[in-house]
Amino acid sequence: MFGAVVGSFLNVCIYRLPIGTSIVWPASACPNCHREIEWFENIPIVSWLVLRGRCRTCKHPIGVQYPIVEAITAVMFGAAWWYYGPGPLLASRLVFGCALIVLFAIDLEHHLLPNRDHPARHRRRLSVQLLHRTGMARLVDRHRGAAAAACC
Ligand SMILES: [Zn+2]
Repeated sequence: MFGAVVGSFLNVCIYRLPIGTSIVWPASACPNCHREIEWFENIPIVSWLVLRGRCRTCKHPIGVQYPIVEAITAVMFGAAWWYYGPGPLLASRLVFGCALIVLFAIDLEHHLLPNRDHPARHRRRLSVQLLHRTGMARLVDRHRGAAAAACC
């Protein structure tokens, strides 16, 4: 459960880091109607299932990546807890794992997946340029290299 809450925060990072907005403020809002998300709509996985992946007011579809990222993070937390037990090693592995999830999801969204939503695609292209200009891309590449090395 704690993992799912962290996963929900990772979603915020995934959505906001590439656009360059703050990850702490403002509160989560629907990207379509900009209405702030109520606390009961922000319960990881459960809310998405109850609302059937749609905004409560404007029925704008909410990406399936949100509950997926939450579920993956929850599973990772559970597995790491079981494997490492509580301690500093667990904490460092979890931080690294979270960073990988965020980087992977950003990469997926900005380079691989086709998107039929034109305004969104335009905004994303803009944010990729932003990413390159700020040198974030180099950082991401370096992390990806490290992750690949760790896997081999
Ligand atoms: Zn909405």
